[in-house]
Amino acid sequence: MSEMGHEQVVFCNDPHTGLKAIIGIHNTLLGPALGGTRMWVYESEAAALTDVLRLSRGMSYKAAISGLNLGGGKAVIIGDSRKIKNEALMRRFGSFVDSLGGKYITAEDVGMTTKDMEYIHMETDHVVGIPESLGGGGDPSPVTAYGVYMGMKAAAKKAYGTDKLEGKKVLVQGAGNVGGYLVDHLMEEGASVMIADIFKDKIDKITTQHSNVEVVDPYNIASINMDIYAPCALGATINDETIDQLTCQIIAGAANNQLADEDKHGAALIKKGIIYAPDYLINAGGLINCYSELEGYNRKRALEQAENIFDTTLEVLNQSQSTGKSSHLIANEMAEARIDSTAQIHRSL
Ligand code: NAD
Repeated sequence: MSEMGHEQVVFCNDPHTGLKAIIGIHNTLLGPALGGTRMWVYESEAAALTDVLRLSRGMSYKAAISGLNLGGGKAVIIGDSRKIKNEALMRRFGSFVDSLGGKYITAEDVGMTTKDMEYIHMETDHVVGIPESLGGGGDPSPVTAYGVYMGMKAAAKKAYGTDKLEGKKVLVQGAGNVGGYLVDHLMEEGASVMIADIFKDKIDKITTQHSNVEVVDPYNIASINMDIYAPCALGATINDETIDQLTCQIIAGAANNQLADEDKHGAALIKKGIIYAPDYLINAGGLINCYSELEGYNRKRALEQAENIFDTTLEVLNQSQSTGKSSHLIANEMAEARIDSTAQIHRSL
């Protein structure tokens, strides 16, 4: 905990429902710790703990750099979501969240659904990502995609001197929720869009709407001739193997943890002259959408806030250029500076 600067870690155990969960609260200086709950089959409790510590710290950084009055938190439920998940288990987890009195606010993550958020909501008000019919913000993907689009435009401004994407060859890897909305923005602007997905139905959904989108082989992404690479599927796609093959000028996508090794691959991208828009900065639209839910959901306001991602990304990229440090490192430093300055305000009060 002290190594990563965590405030509090809560272990939850309930033999009746079989619930085993860990809630990690990294930092609440800027506001309540908000972050999704991940349900996953971990090899050990130690592995689950490491994951929740890492993820909750990441949420502090994401909230801080996005200018939100939120801290960083995350929870993990240990177990197979397809086997042990049920209403009782979710509601028991909700009661543990409630016991923290709003210090931690949960949301959806891997292995969880909007229905689970509804069950959690039966036991606590400290949950976001609930359906619109229940006063929530619903699917955050359109806001996430808009933020990614803004980050991509900022990177284009840096690389080409203009934020216009017309005629640029953009490859969207992962034709899912975010990827689909991102393609809409890109097509509207006249970009030359390529998509890749491992499932045909996902591809079909996009090509029926945009017949001139080119479909490319999902197993041979890095060597494709493109100006902009938008990873919107899985993490760690920028690694030892792919970096040598990439010929793009920009990487800007929604996937979390795109750099397999942040220090090593961040530096390697600088060396190759590829501009990297930090993942957690440009995919913060999802968190912005959750934040809006806390204030009384307003989609228009959430989109306006996501638009700020353009300016922040440009600032990060400018600083990266002037210091020679990777954009990921600069983003981390900016996030830490906001948290530290808030700590000073609190100390002086
Ligand atoms: P999604 O599950 O709807 O879409 C992911 C898509 O990637 C799927 O269509 C899947 O078939 C495809 N895919 C998986 N492996 C692939 C591969 N090897 N090659 C090509 N395609 C592959 O998920 P999403 O909600 O669109 O999120 C996309 C990414 O953005 C994830 O990494 C997610 O963590 C991140 N993200 C999403 C949000 C959000 O609001 N949804 C917010 C922040 C970050």
